Amino acid sequence: MLIDSHCHLTDERLLPEREAIVSSMSEDGLCALVTVGYDRESSLGGLAFAETHAGVWCTLGVHPHDADKLDGETLSAFRTLAERDKVVAIGEIGLDYYYDLSPRDVQREAFARQIALADECGLPMCLHVRDAYGDCLALLKENEGKLSHGVLLHCYSGSPEMVKEFSRFDAYFAFGGAITFKNAKKNVESLSLVPRDRLLVETDCPYMTPVPYRGRTNFPRYVSLVADKVAEVLSLSREEVEELTTANTKRLFKKMK
Ligand SMILES: [Zn+2]
Repeated sequence: MLIDSHCHLTDERLLPEREAIVSSMSEDGLCALVTVGYDRESSLGGLAFAETHAGVWCTLGVHPHDADKLDGETLSAFRTLAERDKVVAIGEIGLDYYYDLSPRDVQREAFARQIALADECGLPMCLHVRDAYGDCLALLKENEGKLSHGVLLHCYSGSPEMVKEFSRFDAYFAFGGAITFKNAKKNVESLSLVPRDRLLVETDCPYMTPVPYRGRTNFPRYVSLVADKVAEVLSLSREEVEELTTANTKRLFKKMK
């Protein structure tokens, strides 16, 4: 059974489907889903859904796009809610210099505050990084003492060389639909360099739909297409990929049972 380690069940495209998504989980070969927060509303919404649905877990965080909305009140709400059983990580947090929807200094500040939050809460962090791997690495180095609960690079799109750099922090790497795309050469090379015990799979649904459904809405069940591609690249069986990535996800997200 697979775990979709990163999905957005609070997204309006998935809202009408999400009861069906959860009730067909075992049929679809899924043993757990992690619905990821990207602002206050989606974090609280994801928690409410996780708490009423077996097999669903969640994270709390403010995405770099919304970095300018991270205030003290949101941080203290997250600090309190992080103690709930279903909250497995702080995220998605990080830096996005591709869209630059919040000023870069504001993004770095919000990222640093949430690295500290994850450390205080004793939770791993789920990072969103786009065109900002150098600055991300620098910020992690500055905060090296606060990373002991685990770092996950969601939807890893950095260079193969950077895999080594992040591995110094014992980082985990999650791959999604992008590895099935035609132009995925760099991502596939990165995937082959990730230590086997640090590899996760995800969908980031409703975004990043894998081939052959690219261009349509993505769903957690399509994580199986990602797992197939991982098996092909690493010359593993599908069963081995399932065992490996599920064990890795549970080791990182310690509260997941
Ligand atoms: Zn996401």
